[in-house]
Amino acid sequence: MSLKVSRGTQDFLPRSCKKLDFILRKARAVFEHYAFQEISTPIFENTAVFMQGIGEDTDIIQKEMYTFQDKGQRSLTLRPEGTAAVVRACIEHRLLTSSQKLFYVGPFFRYERPQAGRYRQFHQIGAEYLGESSPYADAELIILAYRLFSSLGLKDLHISINTIGDSSSRPAICALIRDFFTPYHSQLSAHVQQLLRQNPLRILDSKDPFIQTCLERFSGFQSCLNKESLTHYQCVLSLLDLEKIPYKETPFLVRGLDYYTHTTFEICSEQLGAQSAICGGGRYDHLVEKLKGPATPAVGFAFGLERLLTILDQENSFKIDTKPLVVFIPLGIEAEQSCFSYMEQCRKAGIACHRFLGLTKLSQHLKHAHNLNATACVIIGENELQTQQFLFKHMDSGEQSHIPIDQLISTMEAMK
Ligand code: AMP
Repeated sequence: MSLKVSRGTQDFLPRSCKKLDFILRKARAVFEHYAFQEISTPIFENTAVFMQGIGEDTDIIQKEMYTFQDKGQRSLTLRPEGTAAVVRACIEHRLLTSSQKLFYVGPFFRYERPQAGRYRQFHQIGAEYLGESSPYADAELIILAYRLFSSLGLKDLHISINTIGDSSSRPAICALIRDFFTPYHSQLSAHVQQLLRQNPLRILDSKDPFIQTCLERFSGFQSCLNKESLTHYQCVLSLLDLEKIPYKETPFLVRGLDYYTHTTFEICSEQLGAQSAICGGGRYDHLVEKLKGPATPAVGFAFGLERLLTILDQENSFKIDTKPLVVFIPLGIEAEQSCFSYMEQCRKAGIACHRFLGLTKLSQHLKHAHNLNATACVIIGENELQTQQFLFKHMDSGEQSHIPIDQLISTMEAMK
């Protein structure tokens, strides 16, 4: 029985939490500029939400869900992705009478083989733009994601973009892929043969080297797309051109989930190695209906915070502003009690302070204050209590001076 952190999960220690907070604050500011509002759904949902939403023959549903029965014999699932849950919430709260621009943040769970950049509990920020079929919505979302990553200081980003057309093009695309792979049928794995029967489009996503070699001879399915799908796609591209957003058309980018239509896209970073995608998204015009809501076109994306942390660490991009912190050092029992009250007064005035309990020597206090990155220390001994003056020590310069007790708060406020 292990008492260590469970496989594929990790602890975020205080420094990492500060970095996550940095990302979240930047992300929230960008979402605000694009008029997206935050939504939060439960960590677990009735299993049917994902079964019906994501598609039964996807990897997520077949292999990766954390599904369990609760004591009332309900089948529940830890959410493996955000879109189906957000759509469920929009239907349930009847939000879809007008268009909705929503974003979410939180942990997600997939039973995957852990490796660099791949966890069983990971965190995503996602955005969903519901109720708009216009290509302007697709373009706005892609640009939003690009601006968000740029605002975090990310460099060397690659946007891959494709269209898989609307649902009326799908039968012709599937037939084309089946025909193309028929001569290779006996060389295909059982899994690929099954995909070929049930969902041929997903074969294009395969990392299998044999499939990759075959696909070098596949000329793509663009010829199966109808005029509306091509017009939609061209409009998205022209809007990206207009804003000078760099992208690469990637004809086999179909993404792993069943619900996509029209635009699919991914944003990758060269710095991530094998798991190079930070962000994935696309249009999903039929998901709301699949979850028994009103016909509602939509487009969305999600990106992973763990991978973003890795890149930002490599690029040294974190600019974490630490707020001033004052460490109080009481020397003697009487000073301890006065300190307690002074600290509460400071906190009420908006000044962060701390005192190390149980330490007696001044040198110990100063060493710990230094490790905590304190801005200043306030030393209170018998002498200070008698003269009603504090010994105020700036940690950076080492300078120290006596200040009257009633000037403590104004001195500290000056440091903010
Ligand atoms: P997806 O929901 O599969 O489209 O993934 C969107 C983004 O979430 C990816 O580009 C990753 O940044 C992140 N992501 C997905 N699965 C994992 C995972 N198992 N571990 C860490 N990040 C993940």
